Amino acid sequence: MANASQKIRILLVEDDVGDALLAEEMLAEIKEPVFAVTHVDRVAKAVDQLRAESFGVILLDLSLPDGQGMELVKTVRQAAPGMPIVVMSGQRDDELALQAVQAGVQDYCVKGHVDSFQLGRALRYAIERKRIEDALRRSNTELAVLFRVSSMVSRSIDMQGLLADIIDTLTGLDMLHLKRQGAILSVEDDGSLKLVQELGDSSGFVEMYQSQQKGECLFGMAAEGGEMLVSENDLQDARHLSRYAGMESHGHIAIPLKSRKRVVGVLCLETEPGTSVSESVQKMLLSIGEQIGIAVENARLYEETKRLALHDPLTGLANRRHLDFVAERSLARARRDGTPFAIIMLDLDHFKLYNDTHGHSAGDQLLVAVAETMKKEVRETSLVVRYGGEEFLVLLSDTEITAALAVAERIRLKIQENTSVTVSLGVSWTKDGGRSLSELIAAADAALYQAKNRGRNRVVSAGPGKKMEGVHV
Ligand code: GH3
Ligand code: MG
Ligand code: MG
Repeated sequence: MANASQKIRILLVEDDVGDALLAEEMLAEIKEPVFAVTHVDRVAKAVDQLRAESFGVILLDLSLPDGQGMELVKTVRQAAPGMPIVVMSGQRDDELALQAVQAGVQDYCVKGHVDSFQLGRALRYAIERKRIEDALRRSNTELAVLFRVSSMVSRSIDMQGLLADIIDTLTGLDMLHLKRQGAILSVEDDGSLKLVQELGDSSGFVEMYQSQQKGECLFGMAAEGGEMLVSENDLQDARHLSRYAGMESHGHIAIPLKSRKRVVGVLCLETEPGTSVSESVQKMLLSIGEQIGIAVENARLYEETKRLALHDPLTGLANRRHLDFVAERSLARARRDGTPFAIIMLDLDHFKLYNDTHGHSAGDQLLVAVAETMKKEVRETSLVVRYGGEEFLVLLSDTEITAALAVAERIRLKIQENTSVTVSLGVSWTKDGGRSLSELIAAADAALYQAKNRGRNRVVSAGPGKKMEGVHV
């Protein structure tokens, strides 16, 4: 509500000279608050006036030479969406009054049926009504955004897709005046910040986000302090240090992403320069930050659990569960594409003796060294598995037997070179995915058995078909 001392600027839109005079006289009688009237007699003039200046309220006749009825209301509303309107109509018509309210005006008065007091009250109430309507609309929009983000978070299992959707949704909201550019950084265990999702196509911008450090620049500060930071203009903000070539002037909102009070990341948004962020929007963004924080943390825990469930803790290699999963997919692909697939089975020679001589923990270290050598000697795409205590497998997609034997031989030599033990290896393969994993393992095991029998420290091959199994080189 206006203070007693405040003047309320009012735009009177009325073509009838007599009616205009009457309205001005009534308004002049009101002493608290004082209404300062600007009078125009055409819609076109009203629109010009509204574009040029701001008014507290519009008093609008519904019948003008260049505009009529609801069309007229629409034109005026479009010219000044945030301004309250009171209609002053010559028609005492309930239906028309209802239509006017539905079209967005705050009150409807009938000429000759209001006195000065009633007109003043209608105008002041219109201002208050409009303020409440706008606040409600804003908080509705905020709630709708929150609802949208939280339903995205609860539905999504694809983290990357979720984060992309969240940045896309937020930067598309008119209420925030954001640029279509933003990023989500995660806080890693060692305190560094990692770019996990970005929106925007400038490479300088992506590079800049990739090198953000905790405590540095606005986002690093938000990550460290756990507080939301708003900066209206990068050029006038001493906290804003990161720059890149071609960077446009902008503001920032840095929102900490929290899970159980710990900062797990930062949502980085860019605003048009000079954009202020209201308290209620800040609250909404913090709530969104908490939702995303929980999602980011859940995704991290999920990845960690998956890693633990699928890997051997001693060597970090894939375990049998992971083997089954990957082998099934690789064999299906081999069948589909008609490509060869090979496996190598490796077993340490006289490992029991090594353990007995050097102790169990030295034995463990040896297993780690063997695992590392194996991983180094195969392509990134080949899976190395700890199959049993001192037995390892390598899955080789799209690999002929000769190439697989060469890999096995290379591993044998490298282990001999790098460690104080030797290994024996059996290799089996299938031309086109026609054999099952268990058949391939059985064949490789049989070949390995032959390698041991023949004096260890060697590679033996099993043939591709059942008939050829046990044919050795
Ligand atoms: P061979 O050349 O015939 O394979 O002889 P070997 O002594 O390697 O074979 P054997 O099967 O008799 O013994 C395997 C040994 O591997 C026995 C077991 O104590 C050891 N072993 C299995 N898993 C682990 C492990 O995780 N750590 C350590 N240190 N030793 C292990
Ligand atoms: Mg910036
Ligand atoms: Mg052994």
